[in-house]
Amino acid sequence: MLPSAADLLAWYDRHRRVLPWRVLAGERPDAYRVWASEIMLQQTTIAAVKPYYERFMARFPTVAALAAAPSEEVMQAWAGLGYYSRARNLHACAMAVVAEHGGRFPDTEEGLRSLPGIGAYTAGAVAAIAFDRPAAAVDGNVERVMTRLFAIEDLLPGARPLVRDRVLALMPHDRPGDFAQGLMDLGATICTPRNPACGLCPWREPCLARIAGTQESFPRKAKKKAGATRYGAAFVLTRTDGAVLLRTRPPKGLLGGMAEVPTSEWRADYELDGAAQDAPVVTRWRQLAPPVRHVFTHFPLELTVFAAKAPAGMQAPPGMRFTAAGRLGEEPFSSVMLKVLETAGAYGMTPKTRD
Ligand code: SF4
Repeated sequence: MLPSAADLLAWYDRHRRVLPWRVLAGERPDAYRVWASEIMLQQTTIAAVKPYYERFMARFPTVAALAAAPSEEVMQAWAGLGYYSRARNLHACAMAVVAEHGGRFPDTEEGLRSLPGIGAYTAGAVAAIAFDRPAAAVDGNVERVMTRLFAIEDLLPGARPLVRDRVLALMPHDRPGDFAQGLMDLGATICTPRNPACGLCPWREPCLARIAGTQESFPRKAKKKAGATRYGAAFVLTRTDGAVLLRTRPPKGLLGGMAEVPTSEWRADYELDGAAQDAPVVTRWRQLAPPVRHVFTHFPLELTVFAAKAPAGMQAPPGMRFTAAGRLGEEPFSSVMLKVLETAGAYGMTPKTRD
């Protein structure tokens, strides 16, 4: 027996999740709402996004309203979701939709991909959900379902094109948006990483991994290269009164809850050319040398430090604070942050450290 879209759609019709950005069955979703939800979900969970999403939509009900808003207001509405470069891209994308597309999102995957901050996944998701295009939106959930369903032994991420082909081959032409959402829901609620609820799955009969009893061994993943160096940019903004711009890292994860100067994301493929995009404010940043190097348990990090001065009365962007020079010693800096501050000459006292 082969898996069919009809089985997934029948399941979706009965069990679809109720989400604030999802319309009722038969209604056409608004591309703006779908796009905004997908950008927010890139970095956090559905439960965390829901209240932000509602507030954001109340404040910016249309793409035109978002495009016309001052960037500080967008950043303020985003505060708490983290990774402000995404919020800046979100704002830039809204402005591009208004300036270049008359306020309407392009309705194809290619058109969507040409907008700032929209990658393959988001373009596929918006094209399918908002415009009912037969486009694949392959994220971790979808990879898990498809590799199990077809017992795909190839290693991810190399197997991604194969997964994508399988999704497209199954995708029905009449309800691509519901199919894409059904696949997302199945991966999130039934075909979970541990203990998938195969007994409730609409594809339990054709699922090759279930038949072999090997569900949890999929997806197969290439071993992460231990110690691949990650790169990033750190921005030391010092007011003329000596106060330094800081923020607090999210409570969970690496260096959770510690103080830091704003930085870009730390990635193996980070490109310094685009560092200005990640800066907390637009000003004349000076690149300092050499970069700060630090070795964490799982990876070495190389941060390029940028420094700039700000006027004494400047207010911190949302989610950040200026800490007076004399109080820097009270901030819980990690050793990598101390190295960054020392490189910028912004620091010279005994700090509390934790790594
Ligand atoms: S049968 Fe189980 S492993 Fe296969 S797709 Fe369904 S939930 Fe996932």
